[in-house]
Amino acid sequence: MKYIQLPVNPFSMNCYFYFDEVSKEGVIFDPAAYDEYEMENIRQIIKDHSIKIKYIINTHGHIDHILGNKFAKDYFDVPILMNEKDMVFYKNTEKQKKMYGLDFPALPPVDEFIDENSNISVGDIEFKILHTPGHSPGSLTFIDDKYKNIICGDVIFKDSIGRTDLPFGDYHELMNSIDNILLPNVKDDYTLLPGHMDITTVGREKQLNPFIAE
Ligand SMILES: [Zn+2]
Repeated sequence: MKYIQLPVNPFSMNCYFYFDEVSKEGVIFDPAAYDEYEMENIRQIIKDHSIKIKYIINTHGHIDHILGNKFAKDYFDVPILMNEKDMVFYKNTEKQKKMYGLDFPALPPVDEFIDENSNISVGDIEFKILHTPGHSPGSLTFIDDKYKNIICGDVIFKDSIGRTDLPFGDYHELMNSIDNILLPNVKDDYTLLPGHMDITTVGREKQLNPFIAE
């Protein structure tokens, strides 16, 4: 297993390539490239590592995570997966484009809605999915128990947590997701791959993250 973190777009959102180094099969989380330079970076990484992407996965439906879906769908031609509860954002991108002063092509439909009962496996990688709402209603967390990695979108960050002041955000729901859904399912030596900023570990955040530390 190998993962590659690539920050993209004006929001410095982390796109992740996550793949099996033997079969080369993998998934791409939030391929939200905004300009041609970023799209070319994604294509180059795919070529350099000969990755065969099987799914485009959106950790949640916020604009900084989905704005590259047209590019990704055209390039990879594989299903787009997301939780249905975040369609409220997905369907509303024209308005958000104006609000944020962004320009990107209309999004293709989500191909499959996924939730905590879905199974995703590619190569020798298997993801357990948790529904971890609060930052957004449809925020999902993907856990690879074999390699001890967590793709958590904007649920937890190094030293912080996801915003809850956006529409449909809920601080208490987010803390419940972290304390009672996410953390009980993982151990201190698991790596957290968040949607913004640096990669960290569960143990480090339990100790130092002011929102999580006891
Ligand atoms: Zn977000």
